[in-house]
Amino acid sequence: MPETLLGALGPFLVPVALLLGLLIGSFLNVVIYRLPRMLDKQWRTECRLVLADELNAADSPASKHTAEAQEGSEAPFNLVTPPSTCPACGHQIRPWENIPVLSYLLLKGKCSSCKSPISIRYPIVETVTALLSAVVAWQIGPQPALFPALILTWCLISLTLIDADTQLLPDTITLPVLWLGLLINTQGLFTDLESAVWGATAGYLSLWSIYWLFKLLTGKEGMGYGDFKLLAALGAWMGWQMLPLIILLSSLVGAVVGIVMIMAMGRDRQIPIPFGPYLAAAGWIALLWGHEIVAAWLGRGPVAGGF
Ligand SMILES: [Zn+2]
Repeated sequence: MPETLLGALGPFLVPVALLLGLLIGSFLNVVIYRLPRMLDKQWRTECRLVLADELNAADSPASKHTAEAQEGSEAPFNLVTPPSTCPACGHQIRPWENIPVLSYLLLKGKCSSCKSPISIRYPIVETVTALLSAVVAWQIGPQPALFPALILTWCLISLTLIDADTQLLPDTITLPVLWLGLLINTQGLFTDLESAVWGATAGYLSLWSIYWLFKLLTGKEGMGYGDFKLLAALGAWMGWQMLPLIILLSSLVGAVVGIVMIMAMGRDRQIPIPFGPYLAAAGWIALLWGHEIVAAWLGRGPVAGGF
């Protein structure tokens, strides 16, 4: 990104990030809702095709079962098609009803056609995305690291909510984030390339080892492979040096939230609490303030290598 353009944006950087965050937040709502359903649909279609192959092999008139299996996969369902509709009445959302936050307020949180309530989560995701984007712009300023940091922030927001909803961290987000982290650190934007490669490796292996240790000791699965990939991605962005801080922060936040949930809502201890949101939150904090926190921790002055 040309630095002169970013420099010229200087005083407007935070408001621009705030507005951009609102628009992106609106898109993230679509990703959070649709991506798990797209993956589920794709998975079911693949399962049906595999079963059809087996059935075709069993009886001679081939391709009959394959055609049946493909039937369910015809209607396109992706991030842009079909257009958004009201889940209660099927009313198609018009452009003016799709303005971040504002439309929700104008519609008083109700569908314009059938008056069923619209989830408060949509404007909340838009507002939070806007605020976090503004914080990133404020903390990083007009630097080449700004745009990648915003992209990481937006991906982490999507992963947090998808994991909270479905207990899944889709590879379609975690793996590109990992590659992007390695790619931008060829330019040393957040750390040097060597630290990034070791960060990705150590990030994956550290949680993988904990997973197997936990499984051997208790016979239960404490987390999923998505968590390993997310920590690998964060390691690729920030280098192996940030991994202890990220693990410590995520465990701290996770333990506090977990205890509060068990005490406040009597949440069953057996219900798995996704770890992804805490990893994502810890990763975001480490992205912006990791060097300061580590410096304060070690009782030294700020470490070179920040922005
Ligand atoms: Zn409706």
